[in-house]
Formats: sequence, structure tokens, C-alpha cells
Amino acid sequence: MRLRNKPWAREMIENNPHIVEPNPQSYKGRWNDLFGNDFPLHVEVGTGKGRFVTKMGEKFPDRNMIGIEKFDSVIISGVERLIENPMKNVRLLKEDVSELTDFFANKEIDRLYINFTDPWPKNRHAKRRLTHEGFLQKYAEVLKNDGEIHFKTDNQGLFEYSIESMTRFGYKLKNVSLDLHQSDMEDNVMTEYEEKFSSRGMRIYRLEAYL
Ligand code: SAM
Repeated sequence: MRLRNKPWAREMIENNPHIVEPNPQSYKGRWNDLFGNDFPLHVEVGTGKGRFVTKMGEKFPDRNMIGIEKFDSVIISGVERLIENPMKNVRLLKEDVSELTDFFANKEIDRLYINFTDPWPKNRHAKRRLTHEGFLQKYAEVLKNDGEIHFKTDNQGLFEYSIESMTRFGYKLKNVSLDLHQSDMEDNVMTEYEEKFSSRGMRIYRLEAYL
């Protein structure tokens, strides 16, 4: 993700606390209070500009969606989307995914999405991959017993690494696709990166994981 300096972004984020929750720790274990309903809680980690999380919120008004993105200059696009098209069932967190267990209680989340996460190809950066064991441990804590991780990427190396990392951790895999856009999966909601890569003819890999 190329980062452009957007000095106005922080102020806009702070001025929209109903979109970017400024104190997610205070909702740990009680996100349903914030949303005011008992709908399932779905979280996208590394949400980027928020296309997926907002499209999903629009398509499934009976799910609560949270997107986590650490950069002001990126999440701001999601804020703009939600200002233009307000959605009660969508929130953004400008936070680092490594702090996930500070924001969500044990077994609080129904589904986690990891979409087109940075591959960090160098071995010495492996710990930064959002499918590294360290992150999988946090996901296992916050996911319900029947919770699932839905993972998509254009990067074959990251896909192979993630299959290894997830199965070593104890996740079981289902609905594995080596070419999502040629598969019979209906209802796929494309992310920003997915649109970009698939329009260049690149193959999209996808899987679902559960414990
Ligand atoms: N999911 C989006 C999509 O498919 O279009 C964005 C993909 S982009 C390659 C990955 C995003 O994840 C970047 O915006 C990056 O800042 C964010 N990200 C990576 N590691 C993160 C972390 N530990 N915490 C929060 N965001 C993270």
C-alpha cells in the first residue's frame, strides 16, 4: 500500500467518532451494546480503504462489521465512504491488529476476514504477516468456537505459507479455491486490491479456516 501524506486525515478521523471508534478497549466484550443489537460480529483485519467492509455492511444489514486499519492516510477513504453512505452496522478501528485481544473478548467474534494482506516476502519479516502463528493465536482467542477465518490473496507464496501456518496451528480448511473468479462461488464481494489484481488477469486464491 503506497502511503500518501494526508495531514488532514487525523482531524477528520477524530471528528467522526461514530465511524472510527476512538476507544475500542471500552467495548471489549460488549460490541453488541455499541451496535444496539445481537447480530453476528464480523471483523476484517487490514481493511485498507474500506471497500469490502462497507460493501458487506450494505449487503448484510443483519451483520455487524468492523474494519481494522492502522494508517490514517488509508482508513480515511473508509471514513469518507461512511460519511457519504452512513451505516449503523459498520465501524472502523484505526488500530494495529497485533492488539486485537485488547479490543475483543474471548470468543466474541463470529468471523474474521483477511483480504490481500501484505505478503512480507522476506523471512525476517514473517512475523508481520497477518497469517503468522502469532496472529493466528490471537484470532483463536477472539473467535467463537464455530468461528471462521475467510482469507483471500493474489499472492501464491503467501497463500502456501498461510495454508502451512494455519494447518500447523490446528486450523482445518474448507472451500479452498486456487482461482476464485473461475470458481462457482456466488456472492463474492471484491476488495479494492482484488479489483485491481483481477482486472490485470491475476488469479485470486481463497480459503476458509476453522478450529
Ligand atoms: N484488505 C484491503 C484490500 O483487500 O483491498 C487492503 C489490502 S492492503 C495490501 C493491506 C492493508 O492492511 C494495508 O492498508 C495495511 O496498512 C493494513 N495492515 C497490515 N498490517 C496491519 C496491522 N498489523 N494492523 C492494522 N492494519 C494492518
